[in-house]
Amino acid sequence: MATNITDLPFSVKLQRLFYLIPPSESMFATLEEVPNYVDGSLAAFQMLIVTELVILWIQCKPLPRVSDFMSSVGAGMASRLTGLVVKRVIDIAAYIYIWENYRLFELPWDSVWTWIFTLLAVDFGYYWLHRCAHEVNFMWAAHQVHHSSEDYNLSTALRQSILQSYSSWIFYMPLALFVPPPIYHVHQQFNLLYQFWIHTETIGWLGPLEYIINTPSAHRVHHGRNRYCIDKNYGGTFIFFDILFGTYEAEKRDHLRDKVVFGLLHPIESRNPFYIQFCHWWYIITTIWNRPGLTNKLKTLVYGPGWEPGTPRLGLLANQPDIHYPQPKYETPVPMWYSVYSIVHFAAVSVVNQIAHENRSTLSQFDIMVSIIFILATLTCLGSLFDKRWYAPYLELLRCFAVSCFLLYKLDLFQGFTFPVLIMFTTSAVIFATIILRHNSAMTKKVE
Ligand SMILES: [Zn+2]
Ligand SMILES: [Zn+2]
Repeated sequence: MATNITDLPFSVKLQRLFYLIPPSESMFATLEEVPNYVDGSLAAFQMLIVTELVILWIQCKPLPRVSDFMSSVGAGMASRLTGLVVKRVIDIAAYIYIWENYRLFELPWDSVWTWIFTLLAVDFGYYWLHRCAHEVNFMWAAHQVHHSSEDYNLSTALRQSILQSYSSWIFYMPLALFVPPPIYHVHQQFNLLYQFWIHTETIGWLGPLEYIINTPSAHRVHHGRNRYCIDKNYGGTFIFFDILFGTYEAEKRDHLRDKVVFGLLHPIESRNPFYIQFCHWWYIITTIWNRPGLTNKLKTLVYGPGWEPGTPRLGLLANQPDIHYPQPKYETPVPMWYSVYSIVHFAAVSVVNQIAHENRSTLSQFDIMVSIIFILATLTCLGSLFDKRWYAPYLELLRCFAVSCFLLYKLDLFQGFTFPVLIMFTTSAVIFATIILRHNSAMTKKVE
């Protein structure tokens, strides 16, 4: 039986976001006993996000933008939807396959030395996977999702790719020849969780620690689009692999002259969750189509995202756009009430997401499919509202109407809460029907 992480004290869940976990409490004989630490950390994520908000406000720094925040957390939700459908996601399934069929020998699962070795080995694998995710175009197509926010706060940590695990698993396969799957799965989760707290501007330079562990300052450089930040600081938990392999760069601390500007060299300028996840694939396909010669086409796929014929493997930075202060961010002028409306509906989708993950073993296939459709439809509709697409009110009307009909059909879905939720969605449908009617009347009047 998997250890139930929801029963653990909150302080313990919080410690685990910082890799503060005694080996004796995280060594398991079987994979089934390994808790889902990531799903069990949702409350700790929420608490730290609220804490960051308060600190940013006290520090008089810009607060996260609602539209960007929702895009980031939404990408995180989307990236974990596969876990609702399949028992084991590709990375752990591939690991088990290698372990069961090709292992050379077995390190003892209950040894502290195995635990420490795996901690370092997983981070070493992460360094190379992350470096390749930046230097190989088809892997960048997945990883660019994480870098596509122009803000940098804890929500950015959750902005994850749906597709990344389909190529990242291969970097950990050598470990499957001798490290038991449970201990690998523990460190794989902690390596990911550790990277949550480093996505913040509230914490400055951490002195000597900057040369040992990955820190907010080091990771700000990684997310920067200033020229000195490009292809730097790939570390997950530790930073010494970057120092060792020559990819380390310290943050320049003259904030007037060198302030890090976050995001992609070519910002994607969209809140659509599908576009955020898959836009770079479209770029790759069209570039391959347009470039002459099989060699150039292949290089487009496996060389760096900035490569062009006649340039080095990773392209030339001089060919990429430089930053100019003050660098504007993507933002469309939307009415204030859009933010309030979106926060309410985003809260609803977060609750559905959490319920689906916590009860995935007991929910029917139908309920899981409905949850997934609801989550993706909500993220798409809210994104199109913030992108000010002409069709956004029609989509939102359709979504709220469909949800209202579904709730009428399943009045016992949330027990006593179903009726208030039904009222919320019906009211939302009426609001958008009114907006559409008013807009159409105004257009007719204009024509007259
Ligand atoms: Zn990266
Ligand atoms: Zn990051």
